[in-house]
Amino acid sequence: MTFEYAPAPESRASVTIKPKYGHYIGGKFVAGEKHFPTINPATEEVLSSISLGGKKDVDAAVKAAKKALDLHWSKLSGRERGKYLFRIARILQERAREFAVLESLDNGKPIRESRDVDVPLAAAHFFYHAGWADKLEFAGVGTKAKPHGVVGQIIPWNFPLLMLAWKVAPALATGNTVVLKPAETTPLTALLFAEVCEQAGLPAGVVNIVTGDGSTGALIVNHPGINKIAFTGSTEVGKIIAESVAGTSKSVTLELGGKAANLVFEDAAIDESVEGIVNGIFFNQGHVCCAGSRLIIQESISDEFIKKLQKRMEKIRVGDPLDKNTDLGAINSRAQLEKIKELSLAGDAEGAERWSPQCSLPNKGFWFAPTIFTGVTQSHRIAREEIFGPVLSVLTFRTPQEGIDKANNTPFGLSAGVWSEKGSKTLWAAQKLKAGVIWTNTFNKFDPTSPFGGYKESGWGREGGRHGLTAYLKGVTHE
Ligand code: NDP
Repeated sequence: MTFEYAPAPESRASVTIKPKYGHYIGGKFVAGEKHFPTINPATEEVLSSISLGGKKDVDAAVKAAKKALDLHWSKLSGRERGKYLFRIARILQERAREFAVLESLDNGKPIRESRDVDVPLAAAHFFYHAGWADKLEFAGVGTKAKPHGVVGQIIPWNFPLLMLAWKVAPALATGNTVVLKPAETTPLTALLFAEVCEQAGLPAGVVNIVTGDGSTGALIVNHPGINKIAFTGSTEVGKIIAESVAGTSKSVTLELGGKAANLVFEDAAIDESVEGIVNGIFFNQGHVCCAGSRLIIQESISDEFIKKLQKRMEKIRVGDPLDKNTDLGAINSRAQLEKIKELSLAGDAEGAERWSPQCSLPNKGFWFAPTIFTGVTQSHRIAREEIFGPVLSVLTFRTPQEGIDKANNTPFGLSAGVWSEKGSKTLWAAQKLKAGVIWTNTFNKFDPTSPFGGYKESGWGREGGRHGLTAYLKGVTHE
């Protein structure tokens, strides 16, 4: 007997979206000159009209951030700065439903995830860094560490509010002021965060938000008044930024792409591993830089595992992001959907075998069914390139060393997962895997106390934990 799920839609009533937004500069919303629409990717409904930041806006934001730094923020003790961060964290908690609904509307992610992951983790980042603000001398960074000054922060569309929190919380805790640009397709929660800054009484200009596209981001990166850049996004743009800041005194952290391996040994607990693989690739529609997008499985259990995985995938509910039963929401943009389709077609053409469960996708909006490709080889594009969608590439191995070699055979090195019941094997594998974050018998676990970042083309530096704090300080001497 099977039960059908009745619709359980979350109400939109908690959210008020203005028809048009300006930039948040110097503690005020300032009208922009040009505008572009932001849409709900699940329905293609236009949600609002957003200002496209140009040179004048970025100049004004950098000026406001510098003024706030010199007049207010640098004069405050860590204890006082910490109070603001605590207030912001509490307000995020109080307004959690509003943020979760707005995030799901603008991004397309299921409300279950924005409500249970994005917003609580964003608040946790502010709480965690609030605690650090008056204890920096105990962070193992020496006594001479100082903030960089004005920090330019550019964030992507996959976790809009959470990436803002990853960036803004440590910057403020360490005494920097901020000019932040949210992604073109997901600006709304950053603009709501401006209201939170006001509600918390944050001095004007400490946080400035300039909306726009890649050209706005480039203006921030190249602005002479910016002392440090913190970027999360594609490896391609990360390389452009690295080139732009080379030869300047700007400090930079880059959190870029990934092609993580989930390495499943024959002694793994199969049902738990299946659950972990599903979470690893289908969480947030696979729009996750550390997504477990390559399943590398020991050949002896491969057939049984794939059957169980397919059975589990048949239960994934795709549809309305605001329905509390939904597991897989909308793809964030038409452009991203086209990229996923293009890479999946390359998988077909190169000889891998595609499988998706039967599921009816909505007629409007951007959708892609959960998909696995078996028979993938290391040379296939779907084994090498970041798809950034709900698509899993399955490769097999015979000996543990072959598994490690395949897992490491990527230009990226952000994350990896190891599945085995043997502790010694998981530790052996973790030592050999070249990735910044390695999970064993679990996946996609995030915590503000834990540093996150990659090797090779996955980026420079770490975010979160003590390591992440260091990136926002100069003159650091490790103790
Ligand atoms: P981008 O790297 O282009 O976007 C990330 C941020 O950088 C956005 O705010 C973007 O602005 C901004 N930006 C774009 N160009 C520049 C520039 N020249 N200088 C400064 N800032 C810039 O990612 P996309 O959104 O184009 O996604 C492309 C691919 O990147 C995805 O398919 C995925 O593979 C990968 N990706 C990886 C992420 C990760 O966390 N590792 C996150 C997002 C994407 P805007 O969006 O407004 O144009």
